[in-house]
Order: sequence, then C-alpha cells, then structure tokens
Amino acid sequence: MIRIDQLDFKGKRALIRVDFNVPLNENLQITDDTRIMAAVPTIQHVLDTGGSVVLMSHLGRPKNGPEERFSLRHLIAKLEEIFGREVHFLSDCIGAEAEEKSSALMPGEILLLENLRFHKAETAGGEAFAASLAKLGDIYVNDAFGTAHRAHASTAVIAAHFTEKKCFGYVMATEIENVGRVLQSDKRPVTAIIGGAKVSSKITVIENLLPKIDHLIVGGGMAYTFCRALGAQTGRSMVEEEHLETARSIVQKAEELGVQIHLPEDSLNALEFANDSETEVTEMHSIGKDWMGLDVGPKTRVLNRSVIMSSAVILWNGPVGVFEMSSFSEGTIELGQAIVEATGNGAFSLVGGGDSVAAAKQFGFAEQVSYVSTGGGAMLEYLEGKDLPGIQAVLN
Ligand code: AMP
Repeated sequence: MIRIDQLDFKGKRALIRVDFNVPLNENLQITDDTRIMAAVPTIQHVLDTGGSVVLMSHLGRPKNGPEERFSLRHLIAKLEEIFGREVHFLSDCIGAEAEEKSSALMPGEILLLENLRFHKAETAGGEAFAASLAKLGDIYVNDAFGTAHRAHASTAVIAAHFTEKKCFGYVMATEIENVGRVLQSDKRPVTAIIGGAKVSSKITVIENLLPKIDHLIVGGGMAYTFCRALGAQTGRSMVEEEHLETARSIVQKAEELGVQIHLPEDSLNALEFANDSETEVTEMHSIGKDWMGLDVGPKTRVLNRSVIMSSAVILWNGPVGVFEMSSFSEGTIELGQAIVEATGNGAFSLVGGGDSVAAAKQFGFAEQVSYVSTGGGAMLEYLEGKDLPGIQAVLN
C-alpha cells in the first residue's frame, strides 16, 4: 500500500476523490460538516507539500443530470473558510474547460469539480468518463471510504490511469488500518457485538467474523430469531422464520470454532411498538404471546458488560434495542458505557456500520471509543470480508 506521505506532490495536481456527500437543509446550507472535516488532513497535506488540489465528489442522488439542490457549489464557502483561500469551481467535472483550468493550477490552489453524479457514467463505471476525469490530475488519491464498496468511475475505474501515482488519503488509510486492528488482532480476547434489526442483513458479517473472534454478543431484533431457533417463546418479537435454520447453523459453527456466543438471557418487552407502551421484563425464553421484545433486559446488560470489560479488542455493529425510543435505549446505552470503560482500561474499540454509529453519537460515546468508522455500507461490506472496489483499484 502506497502511503500518501510516500508520494511527492511538489508541482503536481492531486486529483482527490473525497466524500463530500453532506446533508443540506432547505436553504442549501450544510447541516453536518463531518465528512468535509474528515478530508481536511489529506487536502492540507497536498497543499503543504507544494501540490495543487482537484476535488471530486458526489452529493445526493441526482436522477437525470444537473439539479441545483445537489450542486457542489453550495460547499464553496465552507471550503474557503476551512482552507483560507479562494476555491475555484467548475460547473462540470469533465471537458475542455476542466482540463484547461486544472492544467493552469498553481501550487496551493484548489479546484472543486461539480457533482460527479450529474453524469450517469459515474455510477455506471463508464470507462470514457473515467478517462476524462483522469486527465485532470497527475496523482490520484482516493479518500472516500463511504463509497469504497462501489465500482464507480471516480472510485475504482479511474485508478487504472495512474499506474504508480495513486494512493489512499488519510481517511481511507485509517479505516483500513483500524479494521485490520480488529480482524487481524494479536491481542485477545476479541469480542464482536452484533445487534440491529435483522439476522438476514448480518449473516455474512457474522460468518466472516467467527474465525477471528473469541466472543460474539448478539443483541437487537436479530437476537429473537436466534433464541426462537433454540426453542424460546418469543411472542410478537421480530423473528425471521426463514432464517431460523441460519441462526442454528451460526450457533453450531461458533461451537466448532470455540467462539462463545452470548445471547440475551432476559428481555424488555412491550405490548405496542411505542415509547409509552406498557412494558415488562421476562426471561428470554418465555415472552408472552402478546408481547414483543424491544431491548435487552437488566440481567443481560450486566452479563454483556462483564464480557466487554474482559475484552482486549471490541467491535460494535448495531444497537441491542430500539434505541431511538428512550424506553428501549437503556441496553444500548449501558453497552456503550461498558465499551467506553473498557477502552479507558486499554482495550481497542471500533464502532462501525449501521446504526451503532448513530447510537454512539446520540449518547455521546463517539469521542470516547478508539475509532468510529465513517463508512456505513462500506464498513459493513468490509466486515463481510468482501474486496471493496475502491480499495482494490488503488492496491492493484
Ligand atoms: P441496523 O441498521 O441493522 O444496525 O439496525 C438498526 C435498527 O434495529 C434500529 O433502528 C433499531 O431500532 C432496530 N432494533 C434494535 N433492536 C430491535 C428490536 N428488539 N426489535 C425491533 N427492532 C430493533
């Protein structure tokens, strides 16, 4: 893997694929600049080492060509404020004017291209489109982890035009490094906490993780499918009947591999899927027929905590209850608190993929764990053990 600090940017144009897919309000103002801020170190590095920068990104999901509300123009002011200089803008991302403007860039200058997805060829992975984009830079830098699982023109296809002159930006490199710290850890025990709504969306993640971990804590909606598969009465809880067999085979595979699976022992149940519903706590195996489990019970919270506190490496993917409703958020909050405490004691903790990042931010854990992944879908696919096109293209 070529690191960004191994390439010489002096007098060169860095064509950087960033993920500037930020939320905008109805006045087209940025409401959360996390993704822009994440890319700052990479951009700054090029500027500080004598290069110029051509920025390309997508924003939203435009359907048929240019749409004002998805224009990257709305980001100019923010970028000028961050870098303290003028940011040149082009109302298209390819073509003669783009080539002319990018060739004329002086060291320290920044050129922002218009939304890549105004061209259908971007998501289609168009060869000709990728070739046109490639003309705008001397070195290709991919720093868009959020789209690394897509084989798009700017995230993957383009890389073939830069044989030696390509690298990951700091966001990408850090994501890859941190997942590596979990998946190839030499510290033990390694604990994965997999929650969220459905078993079906996490089967591949769990199967890929099993050979690499010592403990698997299962929570959230999917825990009811596991427990049902093992004979529990789960009432109206979320159970995927068609995946009972899958759940049983995961339990069996875990046994074979010597992984301890921790299923919830008790459950906080509700009569309605509503915050003000009547609730009761029961053993996991005896949920009444009118009740649905929406959070792990108090006994499980204590058990989960003790597993987490004895772990050296912790991966958290998916909430263990319906954390969006305060009545059913306690299991997820206590889990997050335990991870924070274990991190304070020296464990390495990574929160990534799905709603666990939202939960970690909402309850204030994000700053206190070792690493929070920025790429939801991409992180999930990475944990599934898939080769991400955006990563492979730079490595090959
Ligand atoms: P995911 O995107 O797969 O991480 O799933 C997150 C969603 O799972 C959140 O919206 C939670 O509200 C939901 N969830 C967690 N526990 C349960 C449960 N016991 N029943 C239904 N949904 C749940």
